[in-house]
Amino acid sequence: MQTNEFGFNFDHSYARLPESLFSQVKPAPVPRPQIVLLNRPLAQSLGLNADALESAAGAAVLAGNTVPEWSLPLAQAYAGHQFGHFTMLGDGRALLLGEQITPCGERFDLQLKGTGPTPYSRGGDGRATMGPMLREYIISEAMQALNIPTTRSLAVVATGEAIPRETFLPGAILARVAKSHIRVGTFQYAAVFAPADLKALADYTLDRHYPQLCGEPHKYLALLRQVIAAQASLVAQWMLVGFVHGVMNTDNMTISGETIDYGPCAFLDTYDPATVFSSIDLQGRYAYARQPEIAGWNLARFAEALLPLLSPDPEEAADLAAEELARFGPLYTECYLDGMRKKLGLSGAEEGDRALVQDLLDLMHRHKADFTNTFLDLTFHRFEAGSLYQSDAFASWKTRWQERAARSQQSPQAVQDLMKRSNPAVIPRNHRVEEALRPAVQGGDNSLVEKLLGVLADPFAHCEEQQEYAEPPEPSSVPYRTFCGT
Ligand code: AMP
Ligand code: MG
Repeated sequence: MQTNEFGFNFDHSYARLPESLFSQVKPAPVPRPQIVLLNRPLAQSLGLNADALESAAGAAVLAGNTVPEWSLPLAQAYAGHQFGHFTMLGDGRALLLGEQITPCGERFDLQLKGTGPTPYSRGGDGRATMGPMLREYIISEAMQALNIPTTRSLAVVATGEAIPRETFLPGAILARVAKSHIRVGTFQYAAVFAPADLKALADYTLDRHYPQLCGEPHKYLALLRQVIAAQASLVAQWMLVGFVHGVMNTDNMTISGETIDYGPCAFLDTYDPATVFSSIDLQGRYAYARQPEIAGWNLARFAEALLPLLSPDPEEAADLAAEELARFGPLYTECYLDGMRKKLGLSGAEEGDRALVQDLLDLMHRHKADFTNTFLDLTFHRFEAGSLYQSDAFASWKTRWQERAARSQQSPQAVQDLMKRSNPAVIPRNHRVEEALRPAVQGGDNSLVEKLLGVLADPFAHCEEQQEYAEPPEPSSVPYRTFCGT
């Protein structure tokens, strides 16, 4: 491990894994690296020197132009089911620079996304453009502020390059921080293309993410159990804030339980369980309401990859895996209902809670109510605007809710405090994100991006400045669309 003027204190444990799992690659230099956004609080928590990172020398490191001797850039191999079809993938436009060991002794990957071709680029240019990198920065940091496990964004660097897409777009590199970039797809890759190295990958993952399990007799089964639990909790948290990931391919599901890959994601405005934003998701495979089911499907692919480690007897291995996988549904429901109870200010658990939640959602759907703002209206007793609140069905739902709340035996203040902590005042609404990105991409004016980041930084503040960002968009005949891999 070596430190330097930037505060990088890198280890390279992934590079000590079998060679089949990665390729060492030099980043392709860019013409004019310039820091566009730098996450100072994150830099500080990682033990990095933000001032040094903001200098020309820092921009050169974060763009991959300078490859200091203490970094060891590598592209990770992975495979994955994309929309249900198995494919070889890998970091096609990203490089792991190293693992930062923080002053508290924690380990985080620092990955640069957009650094040029790798052996896994499959004909792609390995580059990234400014709009999607700023978008990932905004949404991942918003997720962090919502207390949802996520990869984070340390910096966006402009490259000074024009990237050919449908038109020429300004190039950018995102410096991304993650507990690790090990995916379900990393295990699928090992199981299919490097079976002799599967055990080394599993041992490494256990040691890195779940060291408490290393001494267990069935540690690989325990790994499966932990990943199932982490994903059940993660997807429940997405559902509770109306987040649609958009591309839940198995390569975009982490073993750490962090949200990763912010390509086509977006948040619900109007509540509709069938909402799909991604332009390529024509069948609605990754629609809002299908996310728990898809997570379960992805975890079954993870379990399949682990089978050889679960038991030498294939039948026994399959039975063990099936037993663990069966826990996902109940675990997810528990996390989700627990979160929904908090959103409704309810304590304890009652048989009828599930129906109470579902009946509200059904009414919201019927009346095209805004997801985030309906919960805020319930929090602050604002029942004036909107057809939902004028309906008899809502009036009787509200009576049921109030009776249930009364049985919680909490003071009105305690109920409202719980609801304020559980219902964000703001989410990164699509129209606000687009509005902020436009001048940033077209003219390098980041003022709206900075303002939006400020508003999203404390979503549970419920303060005056957040009001205008809580407004849903004007009704539009054109649905909001998002795009992958741009
Ligand atoms: P994603 O849709 O971001 O999950 O990416 C799927 C796969 O495509 C990953 O292996 C990426 O590394 C790869 N990829 C996406 N964009 C590019 C690009 N411009 N050049 C090379 N590979 C890419
Ligand atoms: Mg991906």
